[in-house]
Amino acid sequence: MAIRESLIRWVDSYQGGLSDEDSDSKVRKLSRNDLVRCIPFIGIHLGSLAVIWVGVSPVAVGLAAMAYVVRMFAVTGFYHRYFSHCAFKTSRPVQFIFAAVGATSVQRGALWWAAHHRHHHRHSDEPDDIHSPDRMGFWWSHVLWLMSEHHFRTRTKLVRDWAKFPELVFLDRFDILVPVVFATATFALGECLAFAAPQLGTDGWQMFVWVFVISTVVLYHCTFTINSLAHKWGSKRFKRNDESRNNWLLAILTLGEGWHNNHHHYPHSARQGFYWWEIDITYSILWIMSKLGIVWDLKPVPQRVLDQGRQVSVKAPETNKAHRKDSNR
Ligand SMILES: [Zn+2]
Ligand SMILES: [Zn+2]
Repeated sequence: MAIRESLIRWVDSYQGGLSDEDSDSKVRKLSRNDLVRCIPFIGIHLGSLAVIWVGVSPVAVGLAAMAYVVRMFAVTGFYHRYFSHCAFKTSRPVQFIFAAVGATSVQRGALWWAAHHRHHHRHSDEPDDIHSPDRMGFWWSHVLWLMSEHHFRTRTKLVRDWAKFPELVFLDRFDILVPVVFATATFALGECLAFAAPQLGTDGWQMFVWVFVISTVVLYHCTFTINSLAHKWGSKRFKRNDESRNNWLLAILTLGEGWHNNHHHYPHSARQGFYWWEIDITYSILWIMSKLGIVWDLKPVPQRVLDQGRQVSVKAPETNKAHRKDSNR
């Protein structure tokens, strides 16, 4: 692939590249063109260093934290539980709004995200798994896989249910659009505050670096821990032939996604913390939204799964390859 094509795909992610058939899950090398295409992704990491020049203020850090929580919820509640697993229902406008909020996390479009995640559930820790730390190493599973040409295209066959919504396809295809709007808005907000409330000690560049750049980088790596650490570090309640783990620290950082062994065992439910002591903030927010009528039909965890979970709890690092019980979607 030419460098020119890599640059075009910064803007139009559906241009050129490998088809679903040509994408090879077992490839674990980055090419020079991968690096060219990923300059924005690498650049946002390096951009964190600009904090040296822009300094810090309570309002910038507070808004960065708020941006982290709102966008993490959009990723966990909607990119993951809604678009990947259809764990509840909502209206078309709400679906679009959260696809757009999720897109501010700069983790590509909802269709790309859901398609790759569905692929992961179908092949968890098997040879075809895109990001198995067991098979491909920690750094590949954590971040390098998503920089590879082989996983750049949206696997459209796996998200036919969403591809019928043109507004979602638009966000997925031009996936840089929403992040650019969000980044510009953070700068504009900072400039407005510098003018209207100079005592806050902030400005456009400081707001941009904290609320867009730093918040996004932290959001990246907390989200990515579910593909890397949550398949290595934690306990295994359910006996499965993958390496998914439950980890309370990851569950707090990711608003509930750290109950990953629960989730692999029964991926269809809206909640991933199956018991009251397993804090699942995403589910709590979804529950409140259901009471307000914004979402509905939250899929529960079946009683038989809850009963089974109470009976067995296999601690890491033991593995048990004997059982596999769900339909993996
Ligand atoms: Zn997993
Ligand atoms: Zn999942």
